[in-house]
Amino acid sequence: MTDKYDLDTLAVRAGIQRSQFHEHSEALFLTSSFVFDSAEQAAKRFIGEEPGNIYARFTNPTVSMFQERLAALEGAEYCVATASGMSAILACAMGLLSAGDHIVASRAIFGASVQLFNNILKRFGVETTFVSPTDVDEWEAACKPNTKLFFAETPSNPLTEVCDITALAEIAHRHDAWLAVDNCFCTPMLQRPLDLGADIVIHSATKYIDGQGRVLGGAVLGSKALMEGVYQFLRTAGPTLSAFNAWIFLKGLETLRIRMDAHSAGALALASWLEAQPQVARVLYPGLPSHPQHALAMRQQKTGGGIVSFEVKGGKPAAWKVIDSTQLLSITANLGDTKTTITHPASTTHGRLTPEQRAAAGINDGLIRIAVGLESVEDIKRDLQRGFDLLP
Ligand SMILES: *Cc1c(COP(=O)(O)O)cnc(C)c1O
Repeated sequence: MTDKYDLDTLAVRAGIQRSQFHEHSEALFLTSSFVFDSAEQAAKRFIGEEPGNIYARFTNPTVSMFQERLAALEGAEYCVATASGMSAILACAMGLLSAGDHIVASRAIFGASVQLFNNILKRFGVETTFVSPTDVDEWEAACKPNTKLFFAETPSNPLTEVCDITALAEIAHRHDAWLAVDNCFCTPMLQRPLDLGADIVIHSATKYIDGQGRVLGGAVLGSKALMEGVYQFLRTAGPTLSAFNAWIFLKGLETLRIRMDAHSAGALALASWLEAQPQVARVLYPGLPSHPQHALAMRQQKTGGGIVSFEVKGGKPAAWKVIDSTQLLSITANLGDTKTTITHPASTTHGRLTPEQRAAAGINDGLIRIAVGLESVEDIKRDLQRGFDLLP
């Protein structure tokens, strides 16, 4: 199906497996185990002589449908669905790395990913060196003989810095390492890292793939050979995606194209408007020509995406004033929802960093992040204008 149909069609139809009832919409199989016709069949299934479902920690038909559909969209040979985005990153590391291995990771990745590398993987003998998301020479210089994995997230949160996936893949491969890209912000509708040379794609399906802020889930995608280790970890250790959540994500993928296009159009309109406001010191949005990596972003992404960050003049008091003056936007750190969310990164998602670490990361106190939802952009502007009007 993958080579025959366009992305929009695959998002709606790839991976469908109908049961004996010939249901049209994908069925939700809420069952933890599966029955066998005979003792002999059970034995054959368990030793792998006969394909088929055994137990939902291993496989479930609803989860399999989601895995196949997302794999088709990312152009991946195989997809392993997980209970959350973080368990996708954990499964990737546990499936592919061993004590003594080394990771080179972008400094600008999701906070919990930093904690996972620094506080957990380190205890198991896996070391991580953090480097600039935008300076490829730093990645090259950080490589050691035991470097096994490059880990990038692009665009980054909350500064929307863009990593050059093709350049990073080239460096990683020269050092016999794999490049993993967290594609949560773009989704395959805007960016396909495997086409650009990456080996592994990571997703927090919790965000745009669900798209309506309901459930947690994740995925790791890549070649069948690479994913075998990831799957064996999952099947043994158990951070498996629930069938119910897989069913939500299957339905989410069907509308992903039109949602990503709408989020992107709203974000571009909002970013352009913000740039013209006297209370705003700078706007960070890859779709704006003023963005430092605008040209690169437009080469590797279809649009600038749905996340806009901006800095108000007047630091934290001004940023909090704008956030607290909203009546429509949701004050929450989540993103990728139909409902627009507004966040003050310095005191929430990045609040655990020291002021020096925040300054080094470029996250200052006036910064506000908006994940543009599907409401009217005019209403979003009016909601922000309320706060701007109160600033000196
Ligand atoms: C949210 C997020 C994660 C973690 O996903 P969960 O589903 O919350 O575990 C990882 N990476 C990025 C970029 C995210 O935004």
